[in-house]
Amino acid sequence: MSRGFNFSAGPAVLPEPVLRRAQAELLEWGGERASVMEVSHRGKAFIALAEKAEADLRALMGIPDDYAVLFLQGGATTHFALLPMNLAAAGQRADYLVTGAWSKKAAAEGKAHAAVQVIADTAASNYTTLPAAGSYTIDPASAYVHLVANETIHGVEFPDAIATAEVPLVADFSSSILSRPIDVAKYGVIYAGAQKNIGPSGLVVMIIRRDLLERAGQPRAKILSYKAHAEQGSMLNTPPTFSWYLAGLVFEWMLAQGGLAAFEANNRRKAEAVYAAIDGSGGFYRNPVALEARSLMNVPFMLHGAALDAVFLKESEAAGLLALKGHRDLGGMRASLYNALPFDAVATLVDFMGDFAKRHG
Ligand SMILES: *Cc1c(COP(=O)(O)O)cnc(C)c1O
Repeated sequence: MSRGFNFSAGPAVLPEPVLRRAQAELLEWGGERASVMEVSHRGKAFIALAEKAEADLRALMGIPDDYAVLFLQGGATTHFALLPMNLAAAGQRADYLVTGAWSKKAAAEGKAHAAVQVIADTAASNYTTLPAAGSYTIDPASAYVHLVANETIHGVEFPDAIATAEVPLVADFSSSILSRPIDVAKYGVIYAGAQKNIGPSGLVVMIIRRDLLERAGQPRAKILSYKAHAEQGSMLNTPPTFSWYLAGLVFEWMLAQGGLAAFEANNRRKAEAVYAAIDGSGGFYRNPVALEARSLMNVPFMLHGAALDAVFLKESEAAGLLALKGHRDLGGMRASLYNALPFDAVATLVDFMGDFAKRHG
């Protein structure tokens, strides 16, 4: 057996050179005579690792100095609740755009700590579209506006930040961070669970404008305060050290590959090839998402008869194409095309899809 081409939505494929390096230094890391998992997070070596990871992420994304970078825990889901707790006063309004399963969940979780207003909801299109810019109104008194930059399940992605005037834009970038350059200054908060484009699960990266750390928010324990985490270098308690280490290796690898512009070019090429295979199949395969809303990272697609799903999955797996099963909410298939997925994987998938359609069409 050998490694397959992994289309998993998350936890997802990691760059093979990163895994090999981690393997090589698993037992003894950086002259410590122990693995990175076995040393103090407050020791010199780990502090240096943490600082380099932050510096490399800042270089990759062009993060301005007036933003703090936090390395947190709890998955993106925990921050659906902690964000209002930190950014909104008790009972203050917060505006949410709902464009798929994750933004719906963010709004539902947010309700515990803010007066959530869903200002746009694309449920009527089954989450296959984006809300038009003029179709919603942001309350200037809102604590923030929340959106999910890329809906991992529905395959819907905002091409750019939306205009929110003076109200800070808070965006869950879990499945699209580092997939292409973005203008960080258009956001108040960018946050992402690591397990799609950054590293293993257990880590959340948050990029937060420093003035937002000064918001009083709501009464909360210190461990739930972003300001307290920022003051302590994200080391209020023991962080997920191995995930942080691996994220650092991924950032290093990305810089060596040419940074976000290089990844964007490769990601566009991959996505175009998969969408072309779907759209050019004469209806055998179908992606329901509006062209301008299609995700670069997650491509859901249906077969013309759901009875073929099991056959497609069995044959694709035998061909070394892993984890193409769609999310249970949508059925069908989903190809996730994260940074670490090589173009070869997509070329193999496209060939397989063409051949499968010929045999079963
Ligand atoms: C995966 C994902 C999440 C959930 O992350 P957890 O780490 O399981 O909490 C949230 N939002 C988006 C957009 C995701 O892709």
